[in-house]
Amino acid sequence: ATPTSIMVGTGRGAEMGVLFRKGEALQLLKDAKVVAVDKTGTLTEGRPVLTDLEIADGFDRNQVLAKVASVESRSEHPIARAIVESAVEGGIALPTMTDFDSVTGMGVRATVDGARVEVGADRFMRELGLDVSGFARTAERLGNEGKSPLYAAIDGRLAAIIAVADPIKSSTPAAIAALHQLGLKVAMITGDNARTAQAIAKQLGIDEVVAEVLPEGKVEAVRRLKATHGQIAYVGDGINDAPALAEADVGLAIGTGTDVAVESADVVLMSGNLQGVPNAIALSKATIGNIR
Ligand code: ADP
Ligand code: MG
Repeated sequence: ATPTSIMVGTGRGAEMGVLFRKGEALQLLKDAKVVAVDKTGTLTEGRPVLTDLEIADGFDRNQVLAKVASVESRSEHPIARAIVESAVEGGIALPTMTDFDSVTGMGVRATVDGARVEVGADRFMRELGLDVSGFARTAERLGNEGKSPLYAAIDGRLAAIIAVADPIKSSTPAAIAALHQLGLKVAMITGDNARTAQAIAKQLGIDEVVAEVLPEGKVEAVRRLKATHGQIAYVGDGINDAPALAEADVGLAIGTGTDVAVESADVVLMSGNLQGVPNAIALSKATIGNIR
């Protein structure tokens, strides 16, 4: 491509809210084979709400929710906000909490009212030596509904299964259709539960799913996609996505996302949604594609 065509393409991108931080990205995008996408905050709103709470025998609903929300009040995860909001809306006071600790990709824990409380994914519970099979049927149903199941343990006993649901952005289905139209495959990479991820992928017609990955696992997933498919574009919004954005051939950050993601990206999507991706690829094809 000539410097002029890059300048023209970059300018046209800016007009449509696609900011190229590197001119090279405009040249590379036309050869992308797969667009790998983070789920939470990219495909979905990133504002989950608590939808289900099932309490184990011997526990009191409001007491469990109070303890869990108290622990979550210190977490910055979107799941945490959903749980705290639900407790506050229910008029439940949050008891004081100490010794808060966040276990990356797993969940959170703290001491509340003298009780040890852990909240997080099923793998977190298993790591604590807890058997979650009593909630297996509920977890299966929640996952099939596209909801994310979480568990709460109090003093080493499984106390509840909690579900949060994060609505899909209204712009997402059309953006995925546009990517397919351009001949690309779409892959979802998420730390979320596999069944939940599959349900959402099916709903959106996503071609490939990598679920239950830790933040560092996203980079590994991008590497594997590169090895099997060729050029990979990665789209994300979170701190967790920064390494994957850097690893991909082209990293595209959702403009409303975290600063760390934006700084790790080659392209910033000011629209705040996925539609910027097919727009950027189409632009690359139009400005670079036929000028070789
Ligand atoms: P994701 O982008 O899927 O949220 P994370 O690595 O942030 O990836 O979290 C992975 C999983 O760990 C979440 O899906 C959830 O099951 C669990 N988790 C993380 N933080 C919390 C929290 N504050 N409360 C409950 N569960 C959590
Ligand atoms: Mg995200």
